[in-house]
Amino acid sequence: MKRADLIARTAAARARRANEDLLRRVRTVRAVDDTRIVMDGRQMTSFASNDYLGLARHPALIEALIRAAKEVGVGATAAHLLGGHREQHAELEESLARWTGRECALVFSTGYMANLGVLQALLDRDDLCVQDKLNHACLIDGARLSGAQLRRYLHADPDSARRQLESSTEAPALLATDGVFSMDGDVAPLAELAALCAEQGASLMVDDAHGIGVLGREGAGSLVEANLSQHEAPILMATLGKALGVSGAFVAGPAELIDGLVQFARTHIYTTAQPPALAAATCVAVRIAREEQWRRDRLHDLIARFRHGADHRGLLLADSRTPIQPVMVGSSAHAVQASRQLESSGFFVPAIRPPTVPENTARLRVTLSAAHREPDVEGLLDALALALPHGSDP
Ligand SMILES: *Cc1c(COP(=O)(O)O)cnc(C)c1O
Repeated sequence: MKRADLIARTAAARARRANEDLLRRVRTVRAVDDTRIVMDGRQMTSFASNDYLGLARHPALIEALIRAAKEVGVGATAAHLLGGHREQHAELEESLARWTGRECALVFSTGYMANLGVLQALLDRDDLCVQDKLNHACLIDGARLSGAQLRRYLHADPDSARRQLESSTEAPALLATDGVFSMDGDVAPLAELAALCAEQGASLMVDDAHGIGVLGREGAGSLVEANLSQHEAPILMATLGKALGVSGAFVAGPAELIDGLVQFARTHIYTTAQPPALAAATCVAVRIAREEQWRRDRLHDLIARFRHGADHRGLLLADSRTPIQPVMVGSSAHAVQASRQLESSGFFVPAIRPPTVPENTARLRVTLSAAHREPDVEGLLDALALALPHGSDP
């Protein structure tokens, strides 16, 4: 028998990763409050969470979750189409559609599943799927799953996207982009991409995992900020586990889109519905996110403070106006070392390395939250200056 053993082969790949300072490790965390965690026995201020509005521990969300769980139990007990779709899900879908200015919305259990489901449902083999090079992994995987031709364009470059669309002018086409890029924090050129899609007869899909709650009027996201209606940007996907502080995701758009997903999105059909108590907590999160503008104001003050302080200390930041504020380092070894040093100063900022980001662009991914206080940010800036005395690699 000459077959290679699959587990042994994976172990060898892991050993190669370890040699290149690219090993990933699961660490167990205890959350102390909104921003403080304990990891490996050390208490740290975390700058790694996506809880941008500070809602994950909000008493009103906790209470809604407990109340709903007492009333309807923990598990949804079935898939949405087989009795698992509860009043809490229906109410959440209505409130998400109203918030984002779309006709209908459909809840999925995770963002990963939402993107796989949308792309698999809409695209047939040999259709064209044009995507930004820095899109989230699950958009790429969704295109692969669909069997469509996947063409990637240069990051945030509508001309490059145009060339990819023009490579095949007959095939039905979908252009997918992150609204806010998860490892860089920049916002996609949505108005230009929407105009390009209109001209090319392509459908625009925006993954607003990091824009929802943060950008636009009432935090309704990057499409609302760019003033793009569901007519111009018909497929909006966003997650409920980041600024909304809960878990899950949704797709919002025209009724025809949502009705089609109910029929064909396999990750919606063949999976247990999200626990209804989570949907109840998310409804409260949506209300708070819409009403409490002060959380976004505070977040944007902290972003400005961080950027100003980093500039002052000669740290190289990405061009971002969102809570994702990566400090560019370069080599993976250097980034890991700086991240460790930050931990010993009491700050948790993970090093992000290839293959999550391109070669030689390892970075410290700082994320800010309305729950941080000014001294947290000042402390982080001082610790960063010590951990990266020479700024980034040449
Ligand atoms: C986090 C994220 C997802 C995945 O969402 P989950 O609910 O965590 O599965 C999808 N797209 C982007 C851009 C993300 O940042």
